[in-house]
Amino acid sequence: SLQSSTTLHNGVKMPWFGLGVYKVPEGEVALESVKMAIKAGYKSIDTAALYENEESVGQAIKESGVPREELFITTKVWNEDLRNNSVEEAFETSLRKLGLDYVDLYLIHWPVKDKYKDAWKVLEKLYKEKRVRSIGVSNFNIHHIEDLMSVAEIKPMVNQVELHPLHSQPELRDYCKKQQIQIEAWAPLGQGRLLDHPVLQEIASGHHKSIAQVILRWDIQNEIVTIPKSIRESRIKENANIFDFTLSSSDMEKINALNENQRFGADPDNFNF
Ligand code: NAD
Repeated sequence: SLQSSTTLHNGVKMPWFGLGVYKVPEGEVALESVKMAIKAGYKSIDTAALYENEESVGQAIKESGVPREELFITTKVWNEDLRNNSVEEAFETSLRKLGLDYVDLYLIHWPVKDKYKDAWKVLEKLYKEKRVRSIGVSNFNIHHIEDLMSVAEIKPMVNQVELHPLHSQPELRDYCKKQQIQIEAWAPLGQGRLLDHPVLQEIASGHHKSIAQVILRWDIQNEIVTIPKSIRESRIKENANIFDFTLSSSDMEKINALNENQRFGADPDNFNF
């Protein structure tokens, strides 16, 4: 169901499914879409300092009437705060904007060279102080994780990366599974660019589902946490309606075969922001 969850390596439960709010404007749009999602049964919201909508997300959480402990809130520290050695201050700012006294998951947004290991030490401190229930990374390749582990006392619980049928990250998923690091997909729908794919369309028609639903179901069956973004009520509901059908192993293999290592976002080994 929408509420089903994976257990992270520290025992914390994280929903398999949630709402992403990248590029959702602060104010009415973010407030209303997060409220609609929570009303539709979403328990997990993925924001970031970068998205500049933490205040609206926090307000939506309050107005939802759902007890805080039933929700799973993720935010992320932005690159500039890694470069400025201001990760702890950034965390305080995010908490204040969200109006929360803890977050469920705090992520390093990008593996800023020569900076992410120091940042990890701060996240470990926040974790030990119980100000975050779990800590993780985003956009980390295998070599970044290996490098991080050379100094880490606590292994990341999650790695959130670009992951969709055209970039399905088989090696990284394998590696993270062995390390008990939960993989989470960003741009699960390829930011909307996969929604006319003929192979996906054929599978979708066979199940009387949409392409978006097929992709998100493929995530769930692959044990990938997924956080599609939408601000439209109909799509917010549609995206969550993926727990009443099962893709066959032949469907799964057809989707697996679409991988062509095609990114829509930046390359973690070569980004300049
Ligand atoms: P996505 O793959 O979730 O695509 C979202 C877009 O797809 C929407 O804007 C809409 O145009 C379209 N869409 C959504 N549902 C649809 C439906 N049912 N039918 C038709 N079209 C539909 O892309 P995303 O927002 O980039 O990724 C999801 C979330 O991942 C983000 O909101 C954010 O929370 C997170 N993210 C993280 C990073 C990172 O660096 N860690 C980067 C990008 C995104």
